Amino acid sequence: MITGKNYIGNQLSATGDKIFKTFNPLLNIENDWDITEASKNEVNQAVQLASEAFKTYSKISGARKATFLREIANEIEALGDALLQVYSSESGLPNGRAMGERGRTLGQLRAFANHVEEGNWVDASIDTAQPEREPIPKVDLRKMNIALGPVVVFGASNFPLAFSTAGGDTAAALAAGCPVIVKSHPMHAGTGEMVASAVIKAAEKTGMPNGVFSNLNSSGIEVGQTLVQHPKVKAVGFTGSIKGGRALYDLAAKRDEPIPVFAEMGSINPVVLLPKALNNRADAIAKTYAGSITLGSGQFCTNPGLIIGIKSQGLTRFVNTLAEDIVKIEPSCMLHPNIAGAYETNKENALAQSGLKVLAGYENSVEPNYARQVVTTVEGDTFLNNPTLHHEVFGPFSLVVQCENKAQLESIISKLEGQLTGTIISDENEISEYSNVVNTLQNRVGRIIFNGVPTGVEVCPSMQHGGPYPASTDSRFTAVGVDSIKRWVRPFSYQDWPNELLPDELKNENPLGISRLVNNVKTTAKI
Ligand code: NAP
Repeated sequence: MITGKNYIGNQLSATGDKIFKTFNPLLNIENDWDITEASKNEVNQAVQLASEAFKTYSKISGARKATFLREIANEIEALGDALLQVYSSESGLPNGRAMGERGRTLGQLRAFANHVEEGNWVDASIDTAQPEREPIPKVDLRKMNIALGPVVVFGASNFPLAFSTAGGDTAAALAAGCPVIVKSHPMHAGTGEMVASAVIKAAEKTGMPNGVFSNLNSSGIEVGQTLVQHPKVKAVGFTGSIKGGRALYDLAAKRDEPIPVFAEMGSINPVVLLPKALNNRADAIAKTYAGSITLGSGQFCTNPGLIIGIKSQGLTRFVNTLAEDIVKIEPSCMLHPNIAGAYETNKENALAQSGLKVLAGYENSVEPNYARQVVTTVEGDTFLNNPTLHHEVFGPFSLVVQCENKAQLESIISKLEGQLTGTIISDENEISEYSNVVNTLQNRVGRIIFNGVPTGVEVCPSMQHGGPYPASTDSRFTAVGVDSIKRWVRPFSYQDWPNELLPDELKNENPLGISRLVNNVKTTAKI
């Protein structure tokens, strides 16, 4: 079923000479299938086809794009258990997670289908002419969002379905009218090929132009670099490390024509524990956080890597219960030996920092590629003065910072790098005494959570998944939810353009019945 070939548009192709294999971290062995890395020639063919496809695909109606997106979801579903088995073989993630992630992927595709079918997302705005206006007559101006061009999507290691081949970035770009070239993640290239086959089948069934989608394999950085530098690529979506995301961002900025790179990268997701909450329910909070820190072996971008509180009896109780509970949880398998290796290295590096104390760590021996969780603690001063302690340790690791007072708590939050999320654990009415803390945190994060955990990212229009750098390269956009379509479009104005030549979204008759801003009034009416 897995050929190991690349999809160059609807053709399977394997002209490259570099072969690699994916890895089953649970069994600690390579998977059977050979994967062929895309050659330079294949990379170029995929981009050329995408660029050709863009000419027609960018003009296809919302209704036809919706049919395509729904068919992708149907075809992924039709892959059945075979997809889930390959997913688990290439990630070590259990069947329940595979099913959940597939459900999320199908849900995202269908949500984008509804979004573009309904059509309001183009943000149509019309200012009609006033030829009689003195002293200068007003022209007729009509604006809407249009697709950017071919988009390169880098598959994410930690979400083989929902943030990879036909994941959120791809669904959003296809919905916007942009052909997509996926740079498949090498850890789950077989899963990627199966999903790519579903996208290609859907494209053929619904009459989409060849080249609307390609899937390229690679086990090194060259394919990704070539794609980002290709003059016909117009934007990039990425989820992964700060090092990788930043390298691609810099590469895109150095092109003759710089292009946007929407990278979602590292985050330690600070959690602020307020004193009264700790005083009243330190044990319950600690138990909840033991679960959140270890969820999915800590391999979530929203994992709580930093917990901050002011020294008190409540904080001491929290720390003690967290230490007791975290070691009761059985360790689980990480995605790949490289991720497990990086976890060990980054953990050792953090543990070697002066002033850092281990509160508790799982100490029994574990199978290869399993991550042993650790919780640590440090004084506020030490944290403030050591930037290494501010770095993400991707895995089940968390650091509790014990502050001297409220002023130090504020100072620590103000010095944090940009984050995806920030959480406040508070008792009723307590938060009003901490408005400075809340305001400072708001400036560092994309989403603020009250009395919850940061893990768990709901897919819905009001979700913001992105934050100030380095959480993402552009905090004005989200990588989750239908608003993520805005990354792949640009606003475009028509001036005095004949009605019959305008796109349907901007015609006087409003044939799509969408909501538009007409002379500063939101309306679905005709003009
Ligand atoms: P990664 O190393 O950033 O790689 C992600 C993708 O980017 C891969 O396809 C990789 O290609 C490509 N890439 C990396 N550096 C590149 C460069 N300089 N030029 C061109 N392409 C480049 O992330 P990963 O492999 O998924 O995981 C490694 C680490 O990333 C984890 O241990 C973790 O620290 C972090 N991570 C964070 C998050 C998060 O949400 N915060 C999510 C996933 C991973 P090749 O693999 O083909 O080289």
